[in-house]
Amino acid sequence: MKAFIGVGSNIGEKIENCMKAISLLDSIEGCSVIKRSSFYKTEPVGYKDQDWFINCVVMIETELSPYELLEKLKEIELSMGREKGVRWGPRIIDLDILLYEDTVIDSDELTIPHLLMHKRRFVIVPLNEIAPDFIHPVLKKSIKELLKRIPEDGQEVALIKR
Ligand code: AMP
Repeated sequence: MKAFIGVGSNIGEKIENCMKAISLLDSIEGCSVIKRSSFYKTEPVGYKDQDWFINCVVMIETELSPYELLEKLKEIELSMGREKGVRWGPRIIDLDILLYEDTVIDSDELTIPHLLMHKRRFVIVPLNEIAPDFIHPVLKKSIKELLKRIPEDGQEVALIKR
């Protein structure tokens, strides 16, 4: 199954944190990272009084179910020292399931497609780099179309050239 994972960090060595999480993701049995977007420096959305984030999106091929995948993502977050803090506040690593094939789930633990992904430039800009034609299974729009609809104010997203 093909799935897209959002990766973000705004504490410490942010790019290294993201790369470590991606390599841990790739080392999970039944899970391979197939593509990675560039890294982007992004303005915090929601809780503004915190450092800017580094974000990217990866495409994975997985045999895990969405719930199994969620458990593995939480294990990676915890193993990297993620602590519970302010909602939308600073974090060493954040891993979200954005899309999982054309699966739609809306439960207490898991919402797929990710509930706010289509409103967030820090998700849609990197996703558009690796999967512009993927169709959001609820909104029935391509990622490229979703990007056109998001206002830019207060959501700066800058490509990092390395
Ligand atoms: P966060 O603070 O963004 O790491 O949110 C973590 C919680 O959001 C997890 O405990 C999940 O149960 C829940 N959640 C709901 N939908 C998703 C999703 N698509 N990907 C990751 N976590 C999700």
